[in-house]
Amino acid sequence: MAFEDIIGHDRQKRFLKFFLENKNIPHSFLFCGQEGIGKKKTAREFVRHLFCQTGNACGTCRPCVKLDRGSHPDLVIIENERSIGIDDSRMISKEISEHPFESEKRVIIIDNAETMTTEAANALLKTIEEPPPYNHFFIITSSERDIPMTIRSRCMRVPFSLLSAAQLEHYFRSKKNIDPKKASLLSSISFGSIGSGLFWLNEEHFSLRLKLAAIISGRSDGFVASSSVAEMASLTDRTAAMYLAFLLSYFRDLFVTHETGDMSLIVNTDLVDELNTAKYETEWVERSIKRIQESIRVMRYNVNRWLTFENLLIQITGNR
Ligand SMILES: [Zn+2]
Repeated sequence: MAFEDIIGHDRQKRFLKFFLENKNIPHSFLFCGQEGIGKKKTAREFVRHLFCQTGNACGTCRPCVKLDRGSHPDLVIIENERSIGIDDSRMISKEISEHPFESEKRVIIIDNAETMTTEAANALLKTIEEPPPYNHFFIITSSERDIPMTIRSRCMRVPFSLLSAAQLEHYFRSKKNIDPKKASLLSSISFGSIGSGLFWLNEEHFSLRLKLAAIISGRSDGFVASSSVAEMASLTDRTAAMYLAFLLSYFRDLFVTHETGDMSLIVNTDLVDELNTAKYETEWVERSIKRIQESIRVMRYNVNRWLTFENLLIQITGNR
């Protein structure tokens, strides 16, 4: 693993290397950008360079080996999916008050930082306002606007952009040995995110996507299948978000083909038959897009995911 092995983000990598080479590293970074594009990977690579005895992330010295095993005591990673609470913040405050155990530096990576409670964010703010000199923070988020301005203003902001379809295709072909046809499809349906591509690479996820398409296109009976498909699709926040994003892309494909008749513009290139068979009114497509967007919005709160998803499917298929 090296910076070069991380796909894309050349400017961001150059920027970070500059700090490593000059040994003048900001106390707090804010890495922002869509989920699954390599933010945490880049932060981890930075830490490997920082802790490595040769400074080059050699992979063989003691700190490198410990980092690769995930057992380096001076790297603290907080990555709760649902909520980062006051206990996490207290743990960080306690940790950083002591001298690092083995390195000259300690790094604290806070992933999904947008899930911090207000209490936790306030405690973190106190910590990063005056951190002991050997501590460095990487605050990582896919939703920058949910990070309090008071924290953002104290961080060196590093925005990460989406990867191009060509970069994604290259990744799936060269790193995952995927055949060209599938790699091209994955790069199309992943919207610039390797994480999304890996999600769809999972066969269960991919087959549920096809089942959803069958329901929407009327090829299978939505009323019978909706409940079980909705249950599986909404198992976690992440799966619900992914399948809702798929539904949105499917209806945008319908909209585009209906408006322009140009099939080369569609994203879900494997679903051309489904997109073509459905008989529908433009109004139904527009209404469905609004309903999906509304579901995406309410899923951000603690709603019953299964019920929300099932309702959405019933509304879409019942009002064709
Ligand atoms: Zn090393």
